[in-house]
Parts: sequence; C-alpha cells; structure tokens
Amino acid sequence: MSRRRGTLIVVSAPSGAGKTTLCREVRSVVPELAYSVSYTTRAPRAGEMDGVDFRFVAEAVFSEMVARSEFAEWAVVHGNLYGTSTRTLEQALEAGRDILLDIDTQGARQLRSRYPEAVLIFVVAPTMAELEQRLRERRSDAPQEIARRLVRAREEVVAWREYDYLIINRDLKEAVDQLAAVIQAERCRTSRLSLRRSDLGISD
Ligand code: 5GP
Repeated sequence: MSRRRGTLIVVSAPSGAGKTTLCREVRSVVPELAYSVSYTTRAPRAGEMDGVDFRFVAEAVFSEMVARSEFAEWAVVHGNLYGTSTRTLEQALEAGRDILLDIDTQGARQLRSRYPEAVLIFVVAPTMAELEQRLRERRSDAPQEIARRLVRAREEVVAWREYDYLIINRDLKEAVDQLAAVIQAERCRTSRLSLRRSDLGISD
C-alpha cells in the first residue's frame, strides 16, 4: 500500500568479519531486497561469478566510468578499485526496492553524504584474534595479504561510530536475525512512508 522510495542498506565490516556470508543469508530471509553488484578491478576468486558477485573489469574500463561520473561512490581497497553504479542504485530506489550494499568505510561515507537517508550498518567479529582466525581459515588470501587485511581492519574498526547500527557477529544466525530486524524496522519508519488517508482505512 505504500508508495515509498527504496532505501539504501549499506553494510561495512573489516575483511573477515563475515559480512559477505551475512549479506547473502539475509537476502534469503528478507523479501524484496535487491543487491548492488559492485564493479572491481580485482581478479575473481575461485567460485566467484562475473555479474553475480562483482562485475570484474579492467582498470581502463573502471577509469572511463569514473571519468563519466557513473559511480555513486568508488574507492581503492586493498590496492584494487571498487565502485557502485549510480544507475543500479537509482533504478532500485525509483522502483521502491530496498537495495543492499556491501562496501567499505570510504564508500559508506561517500554514500552518506550523497544519500543522507541511507541506513549504515557496521559488522565486527567479536575479537581481533577471531578475525585473524577467520581470515586464515578462509584460505583465499596469501599470508601477506592476510597481514595487510589485519592492519586495515584495525584502522577500519574505529569507524563504527559513523554508522547507525552495530552488529557483533558472534554467531551467524543471530547476526542474520539482527540485520533482518534492522531492515524490517527501517521499512516501518514513518518518515520513509508516503500514505494516503485511505491506505489507513480513513474515508474522507
Ligand atoms: P573483497 O575483495 O574482499 O570481496 O572486498 C574487499 C572490500 O571491498 C570489502 O570491504 C568490500 O566491502 C569492499 N567493497 C566491495 N565493493 C565495493 C564498492 O563498490 N565500493 C567500495 N567502496 N567498497 C567495496
């Protein structure tokens, strides 16, 4: 019954906090939630699919998109370029669909200033030791890369205060429940709704 614009649901976390799994799981429990597939110059990891996990592009292609102002935000993360297409976001918002973004803190800041009504959620592992263990268990990155990600995690974690919500990922199910609850609560926020009197059963 509501004719509301969609909402940007921005999720950031230091690498290894479980954000990718969390974002995937929440999409299976929250209905009508779109996902923003980012552009990146990073090479695909085993099992990642172009157009599903990321749009994998050459640096020249990415630079052209920057020059044409096609990104709502973009940043250098772990030495690679990542960006969010403005068109993807606008299409979802215009259609009244909420859209989930898995982006870093630099990107979240850019989106916050461009879309002040965006909801920002920060996810952390319970401890740094746990984060390190998760990165090692993932086996997708070389030891040097893991060390780089840990240094960056320590820098990134202080950004939590800039976010609207904090989720401590001790247990995946609990974290999914919390993220789903945040999204559902935001859907009920009166400031996001534009209702007619008749939508509330009030006859003129
Ligand atoms: P990974 O390469 O490990 O999948 O992601 C590395 C980091 O890049 C993660 O923190 C992820 O949230 C971030 N990231 C993914 N897509 C984007 C994007 O479009 N913009 C920004 N700013 N960060 C992104």
